[in-house]
Amino acid sequence: MVTTFDLNYDQKRPGFFGPFGGRYSPEVLIPALDELESIYNECRQDAEFQAELQRLSSEYIGRPSALTLAPRLTAEWGGATVYLKREDLNHTGSHKLNNALGQVLLTLRMGKRRVIAETGAGQHGVATATVAARFGLDCTVYMGTEDVRRQQLNVFRMELLGAEVVPVESGTGTLKDATNEAMRDWARNVDDTHYIIGSVIGPHPFPMMVRDFHSVIGMEAREQMLARTGRLPDAVVACVGGGSNAIGAFHAFIPDLQVRLVGVEAGGRGDVGGDNSASITFGQIGYFHGTRSLYIQADSGQIQNVHSVSAGLDYPGVGPEHAYLAVSGRGEYVRVSDDEAIAAFREMSRLEGIMPALESSHAIAQARRLATELGPGKSVLICLSGRGDKDVAEVARLLGREL
Ligand SMILES: *Cc1c(COP(=O)(O)O)cnc(C)c1O
Repeated sequence: MVTTFDLNYDQKRPGFFGPFGGRYSPEVLIPALDELESIYNECRQDAEFQAELQRLSSEYIGRPSALTLAPRLTAEWGGATVYLKREDLNHTGSHKLNNALGQVLLTLRMGKRRVIAETGAGQHGVATATVAARFGLDCTVYMGTEDVRRQQLNVFRMELLGAEVVPVESGTGTLKDATNEAMRDWARNVDDTHYIIGSVIGPHPFPMMVRDFHSVIGMEAREQMLARTGRLPDAVVACVGGGSNAIGAFHAFIPDLQVRLVGVEAGGRGDVGGDNSASITFGQIGYFHGTRSLYIQADSGQIQNVHSVSAGLDYPGVGPEHAYLAVSGRGEYVRVSDDEAIAAFREMSRLEGIMPALESSHAIAQARRLATELGPGKSVLICLSGRGDKDVAEVARLLGREL
């Protein structure tokens, strides 16, 4: 499918991004989604809410995050100048708190006392448990049994933060199963519970709302690039799991048509089904977790298992706004393999003294190609979505090193 890019693509029908998005949810959730949409629309306009969000973004998350020149990567690659938007410096070590904080403030507005979340690697679970602790809310996090096994440290972290972690046995015991279970909990407990979805997925208003909470990334970066270099970057590059850090980084640049927006999917071990999680490259239009987007599915429509070396990119679909940017040609979507991501992880650690998350390492590997293609005098902005401390043990294992 190809459509022409329309700058007003999200203004035509609420909740839709061209032909993608919408709200395809069970009846029981419609009142909660309506309530959330109306409270959110109110808070968007509300100066007091925005001031509170900004105050906490500053004193709790640590915003604005730095823009950092990467001089040694730039020299090594011999092409465009490389800049990093440092979401790894946020409290809890990634972009995820931008959204969790915004949604917890909405939860308080709605007078609800309990939050729930799904988590894969545990990053979004930790972000949700963190803000729940800060505001004294009950917190339950759903996590597949396979992920619980792989991510013991994050499970214990969430427990230390006062959250209850519920292992999900069904399916493959991974992120999509945890999401199903969280949706079920929400349907049973909508009166006192808000479901903090962790990416730009799910039924309207989630993709729009989560994007808005992360759009601070691109707004800050755009100003920082102008202040620092006097011009906009030639390309912005970000990794894409569900797509929240990427849409956050891209959004302020969407009207700047000369700025290339490059999303990087997990190419995994190769192009065979089950070996990657490149949902834009290999996905088809479908309906899953309440929204119309691109999903890796069998001809029967059954959602398929996916793989990535980085658990945060391991989701069989992508947010509907990315699906639109892809089919309209405003965004470019490519993939980077597990091995290329690990090489980028090592290269940035060695050359810049910054250890990136394995997710973000996908964006770094693609930035290398872009820097060469663009050449000296141009610039590439990488969204460094998170820090790599959480991945050190896994990288050691992959490199055959005993710890
Ligand atoms: C969760 C995560 C991602 C992937 O999620 P998106 O919604 O695609 O941003 C990427 N990077 C890091 C560091 C993460 O924790």
